Amino acid sequence: MKKLCVAGVLAVLLAAAGCGGGSVSNPPPPPPPSDPDQHADYLIAQMTQDEKIQLVAGTGTPGSYNLNFPRGAGGYIPGISRLGIPDLYFTDGSVGLGNGVGQATALPSSIASTASWDLNEAYKYGTVIGSDMRAYGVDVNLGGNVNLIGREPRDGRTFETKGEDPILAGKITAAHIRGVQDQHILGGIKHFALNDQETGRTLANAIIDERSARETDLLAFEIGIKDSNVQSVMCSYNLIQWGTAGNSAYSCENSHLLTDILKGDWAFPGFVMSDWWATHSSYQAAIAGLDQEQPDPAYFGSLKQNIQNGLMPQSRLDNMVHRILRAMLVAGLFDFPPVPGTLNTAANEAIAQEAEERGAVLLKNAGGQLPLDPATPKKIAVIGSHADVAVLSGGGSAQVTPIGGAALNEGDPNPPGWSAVIWDPSSPLNAIKAKAPGATVQYNDGTDANSAAALAGSFDLAIVFVSQWASEGMDLPSLNFTDVIHASPINQDALVTAVAAANPNTIVVLENGGAQVMPWLSNVSAILEAWYPGQKGADAIVNILFGSVNPSGKLPVTFPASVNDLPRPVIPGWPNPSSQFIVDYTIDGLAVGYKWFDSRSLTPLFPFGFGLSYTTFSASNVLLTPNASPASGFQVSFDLKNTGTRAGAEVEQVYLALPAAIGEPPKRLVGWNKTLLQPGEQQHLTVAVDATDSSHPLSYWDPATNAWVTANGDYTVYFGNSSASTDLTVAGTFHLGP
Ligand code: BGC
Repeated sequence: MKKLCVAGVLAVLLAAAGCGGGSVSNPPPPPPPSDPDQHADYLIAQMTQDEKIQLVAGTGTPGSYNLNFPRGAGGYIPGISRLGIPDLYFTDGSVGLGNGVGQATALPSSIASTASWDLNEAYKYGTVIGSDMRAYGVDVNLGGNVNLIGREPRDGRTFETKGEDPILAGKITAAHIRGVQDQHILGGIKHFALNDQETGRTLANAIIDERSARETDLLAFEIGIKDSNVQSVMCSYNLIQWGTAGNSAYSCENSHLLTDILKGDWAFPGFVMSDWWATHSSYQAAIAGLDQEQPDPAYFGSLKQNIQNGLMPQSRLDNMVHRILRAMLVAGLFDFPPVPGTLNTAANEAIAQEAEERGAVLLKNAGGQLPLDPATPKKIAVIGSHADVAVLSGGGSAQVTPIGGAALNEGDPNPPGWSAVIWDPSSPLNAIKAKAPGATVQYNDGTDANSAAALAGSFDLAIVFVSQWASEGMDLPSLNFTDVIHASPINQDALVTAVAAANPNTIVVLENGGAQVMPWLSNVSAILEAWYPGQKGADAIVNILFGSVNPSGKLPVTFPASVNDLPRPVIPGWPNPSSQFIVDYTIDGLAVGYKWFDSRSLTPLFPFGFGLSYTTFSASNVLLTPNASPASGFQVSFDLKNTGTRAGAEVEQVYLALPAAIGEPPKRLVGWNKTLLQPGEQQHLTVAVDATDSSHPLSYWDPATNAWVTANGDYTVYFGNSSASTDLTVAGTFHLGP
């Protein structure tokens, strides 16, 4: 057909069809605004309703638990290429890139990273997760697990979390997330909120009063979110009831949680995604504040219809999409779309090892048993926990498939029934042989306590590795080292007792996710809490045992003397509830972890904040200086001297007691300082506590005014190297108000 070329307005259109002399062409479309909110709206204006719906739910098949997403991701939403919107590949990663995607750096547990009390180290930890994610071309991190597991130390996910103190947990989580995000990954924080036990997690109704929630579990999230600018929040499986007479709703449709607190009071601009299959309704959940259903559109697939039927306004869908697009823009996904690259294994493994070296906690060292001298050859018996080939890792969705593959896979215990027991390829036995080549080193697998004791009795010293596997989807039956893996359980307490009876030089290395009780504590000479140490764990542990590294970790959880000292000696719903049940957090309320032990005058096995060093420190001239306007904060300054013969780092901690009349627990952590000192070195150091910090260090939550309030009255500031009263001195007091 002959083309008709005309001048004027139509010429612009027809130029594209081959008319004109090239003097008139399409103007380029206007560039998208650089402001992420405006950019998001610019995209939304060009999207169809179906494209909007596409962004608010995962693409799994409703009713199917068989997730088979591209790139091995745990969730997937395809992008919209005509608008330059990249694909979203949702992948786990609290302790390294979650399995399914491929082999990745198995970091030590998050709890180990927290035990470093070192935000720079924690930032590096996050960079490893982000860097491995980029290498596999996946771009949304389902990490940032900050549930306050101090409420339930037997929680099978303790290893993924950051312990019991909201300020320490929130700050470390934020550092992890910043490290992840700086690799152009969309970071996340979870599980919002009060998902503090795994037993019956989809049926548990967590009851808590507003003040306790704001000052404990929610405070960890508030800090984690505000200090990292994280853009996605995963709501949890459980229900939350606000007070004994309050309303109860699933977290993912809890409007008080999602809309009033998160998006209202905290002004969170990002999006809320559900935990996997934690959505229970369509427009009701969306109106309550859920922005994205995962991993499939079982409910949110109906939103288009819901809008047509007038059950939900179009503006709410547009807001959901806006939040998701804005988050993607802020995270840099448009500029750095997910493209598979190469793993940075050597550098990432170095960080993994350093994280373990800084997070392992020396719990006991009688008579200076440690460090061992590699130059003085000894006969060393190495016993238990597959220490000939591997170190243990934690299970569940946080499970990492280590670089090189598992050294050992012991199958899939029930519970949880869906997560294998993976041992990372890092051999303590080989590392000991390499460190002390002149020593005679022999391994015994520890399955027969008598033969292990016989070996120990004929050697100079014994190093017993004891381990406690734990996983998402289960809680531990006790705080003893319980064998939850084998049909015929190995009694590790009996093993340690027998070995210690045969040889007084017994060193115990713990590979576990959280607090433990140790009936053999007084029988052994040294204990190193190594947590799940990651794929460079053996080198890190052996560096500490032989003194190439001086331990500097401090416990981020209280180790109770007995489960009878916990707020709930029996786990609510234990072992396997079939209908909704109550988890009563009004029992402990504000008193989580050490605050519970303080307020009940209970002596723990090891206190929060505790950890030994191979050197000694002396703190002097401890001075409290309130700010010119005392309500704005204060400083504690001190001189810290390394009085021993080895370089070492100490964590000095500052706790605050609020005025007695407002009913807070006896003290709260408000700041700390970790400093490395050479032998004989002294430094003048300061911990500054700023009332405007995201942690609200001087305030309490006042439900009457719905605000953080700083009370008038007398404040006492404590200073020391653990939370135990015997380790603390009064730095000073100050008074607020008339
Ligand atoms: C876990 C989440 C995880 C999700 C996707 C859920 O079972 O609770 O932490 O991110 O699965 O793997």
